[in-house]
Amino acid sequence: MKTNQPVLHGLHHVTAITADAQANLDFYTSTLGMRLVKKTVNQDDVSAYHLFYADAIGSAGSDFTFFDWAKIRPARNGAGTVSETGLRVLGGEASLEHWVKWFDQQIVRHGAIETLSDRPTLAFQDGERQHLRLIADSESATEVHPWHGSPVPLCAAIIGLGSVDLTVTDSDATADFLTNVLGFRSSATEHNLFETGAGGSGAQLRLHGSTERGQEGAGGVHHVAWRVADPQELLAWQRHLENHGYGTSGQVDRHYFKSLYFRIPGGILFEIATDGPGFAADGEDPAHLGEKLALPPFLEPRRAQIEAGIKPLHYQPSKGPKYEE
Ligand code: ZN
Repeated sequence: MKTNQPVLHGLHHVTAITADAQANLDFYTSTLGMRLVKKTVNQDDVSAYHLFYADAIGSAGSDFTFFDWAKIRPARNGAGTVSETGLRVLGGEASLEHWVKWFDQQIVRHGAIETLSDRPTLAFQDGERQHLRLIADSESATEVHPWHGSPVPLCAAIIGLGSVDLTVTDSDATADFLTNVLGFRSSATEHNLFETGAGGSGAQLRLHGSTERGQEGAGGVHHVAWRVADPQELLAWQRHLENHGYGTSGQVDRHYFKSLYFRIPGGILFEIATDGPGFAADGEDPAHLGEKLALPPFLEPRRAQIEAGIKPLHYQPSKGPKYEE
C-alpha cells in the first residue's frame, strides 16, 4: 500500500430498496431480530421512508438500511449490482442450526449451511428475494451489542454486516480499482476475496464477473458504504479519489454521519461515511430509537407536510426469543 493511501476501516452500512415498507419492517425486526434504530425519510426524496436496522446501539458497521419506493420494479442480480449482503451472527455452526429451524417455522427461503472463507454460512432471502447470507462469526466475542429482540437465542443474534458480493462485467478493472485506488488487499487463498482495514468479517467483499446486466429495484441493494473515523479522513478520501480522476458527490451531511459518494468502475454506487456523530445526533431517546419519525433539523420545519406524505407503519419492538426448539 502506498504511504499516502487513506484507509477504509470496514463496512459502514448497506442501503437497499423495498417496495413494501411494512413487510420489510416486519421481516427485519420480527424475523431477523434486528433493531429499528431510526425511522426517517430519504433526505433526497422525503416521500420515501429510510429505515435503519442495526444492533442494539446502532453501531457503525451494523446498519442495514432501506429506502421504500412502492412503485419501483423488482431488482435483478447481475453485473453492476451488489448481489449479496452478509450479516454476522454470534457463535459457530450451532447458531446457524437455530436459524435454519426458525426460518423453517417462518417459511423463509434458505439454502443449506455451507462453509465460505472458513466460516459456516447460511444463504437466505427476504420476502422480496433480497439475497442475504448469515455468517457465523465466532471470533467476535467482544465489543458486540446484540439486540434483545432477537427471535433466536441471543448467543446466535445478528451483530452486524459481514461482507458484500459485487457483480460486474469486467472484474479485472474493478479489482484494479479496489486494490490500487481504494486500498483493498486481495486474499492470498481466494482469488475473488478482498479485505480492507483490519480485514476479516465486517471488512470483506467478493467480486464476481457476469456478462448479464443486473437491474436496481425492490429486493436489491442501492449502495454500499465504508467506514472512516472522522471528517478529516473523509476529506483525505475526497482528495485521493479526485487526484485519481474520479468524480465524487462532494461531502454530504447526513446528520447521523458525513458522506461522500462515487461510482466504481462497473457502475456500483459506493459511499464513504464517518463513524460519528451517530443515531443519537437528533436527540432521540436511546431507549425508544425508531419508534417515532425522526427528522434531521433541516427537515423539521416541514414535519407536518412530510408526515402527511408517508403511510403510517405499525411497529411493535420485539421482545426476545420466540422460536421453538
Ligand atoms: Zn448510505
